[in-house]
Amino acid sequence: MSALHVESLAALSRRLAAREVSAVELARVYLERIERHRALNGYLDVRPEVTLAQAAAADARRARGETGPLLGLPVAHKDIFVTREFASTAASRMLEGYMSPFDATVVERLAGAGMVTLGKLNCDEFAMGSSNENSAYGPVANPWDAAAVPGGSSGGSSAVVAARLAPVATATDTGGSIREPAAFCGVTGIKPTYGRPSRWGMIAFASSLDTAGLMTVSAEDAAWVLSAMCGFDPRDSTSVDRPDEDYTRDLQRPMDGLRIGVPREFFGAGLAAEVERPVRAALETYRALGATLVDISLPSAELGIPVYYVVAPAECSSNLSRFDGVRYGHRAKDPVDLLDMIKRSRAEGFGPEPRRRILVGTYVLSHGYYDAYYIKAQQVRRLIAEEFQRAFTRCDLIAGPVTTTVAFGFGEKAADPVSMYMADLYTIPGSLAGLPSMSLPCGFGEGAHAMRPVGLQLIANHFDEARMLGAAHQYQLATDWHRRVPAGFGAEDA
Ligand code: GLN
Repeated sequence: MSALHVESLAALSRRLAAREVSAVELARVYLERIERHRALNGYLDVRPEVTLAQAAAADARRARGETGPLLGLPVAHKDIFVTREFASTAASRMLEGYMSPFDATVVERLAGAGMVTLGKLNCDEFAMGSSNENSAYGPVANPWDAAAVPGGSSGGSSAVVAARLAPVATATDTGGSIREPAAFCGVTGIKPTYGRPSRWGMIAFASSLDTAGLMTVSAEDAAWVLSAMCGFDPRDSTSVDRPDEDYTRDLQRPMDGLRIGVPREFFGAGLAAEVERPVRAALETYRALGATLVDISLPSAELGIPVYYVVAPAECSSNLSRFDGVRYGHRAKDPVDLLDMIKRSRAEGFGPEPRRRILVGTYVLSHGYYDAYYIKAQQVRRLIAEEFQRAFTRCDLIAGPVTTTVAFGFGEKAADPVSMYMADLYTIPGSLAGLPSMSLPCGFGEGAHAMRPVGLQLIANHFDEARMLGAAHQYQLATDWHRRVPAGFGAEDA
């Protein structure tokens, strides 16, 4: 049992049920690994005494006769979810050391299912970024290639799952922050339908887009955890009032007759050949499994980036106005008056990217520009959503690349925000439409990028997560990209 960390969640769950391992023993395995691989910088807050107490409580629940597939399994949370027992910072100086009086609904639901929290995970500040370079607490390493970024904003979540420092991690996706880092780190990432998981206790960035999701090794693991994570929450005004679902229900569903739409616009000139090849090969795998490939068009998808960079900053400028040095977060020292206190608290607390977005957002919402930018962006957003609906009359799922390139190098795009924004070219359209979407490992780059993973993106219609997870699982039964572990973190690293 020396290499528990490379086992699937399902296998660990069976071991817990068979009492071959206890939740406390399992937690110790991961805590020890987290300590050993601190250089990865994936975790921002680890409190072994808290984790071990939660694990002991899970063992006690089992001893009392409780069962459940997740009881005693460890999970790590992106530091966008607030937690009572670990600091919640959104990777910002603004919230350094902040202890929340409550747990986010997602955290609460997973704890209710018996999951044990390993700690809080690094990310881009307030989930703004595509490389994790915007964290106030330093970048996260990509376990596959030390020169490559892990992606962002959920770079801590993708890196720790890739390095097997957690069997599953929560994450959030506003424009691509689950799928892009999942692709860059070779793990499975899922963003469910907007409104399906609760946003309550998720530190808000762009409320009409923010969606909680997961990073896992496999689609099967994701299906189990997502079933516990999602559900109606009256505390979130955009939570959808539908019964809880079992997302494992379609895992065994055959691919015969499945129509997969392949959007022409996702294979344009900007797509790197080393990404296109594995993605096309994955589409061929689906064809071999019995699916039909359908040529589709999403002509307005390319407008996703400009639309998103109006809508998201507008919403963030409003959401981040709550950090004023008065109620919580950083407060400037020795202010001369109230205005000085607010101004300096915000200038000192926010890093450059949130500041840039607050400025852009305030501008596009201002009188005189509101119609030209914000209203226009909302109109184009609607067009994009309608194009997806037209596409879904001809196909059941949409598939294509997650990103135009494999993971880029540290510093490569940091000086040019627009080139960084382009990293989400293929993920933002689905976000604007509120659609569920996934990233699956499907290969690696070439030459100097031979250790940089490539992701396949699946997009489903609203509330069709189960079918998407089923298709992802069937692909993973036919391939083994998702089982690859970066050198130095696999069974040899026990
Ligand atoms: N990279 C995008 C941004 O910086 C998406 C971030 C996200 O999904 N949270 O806004």
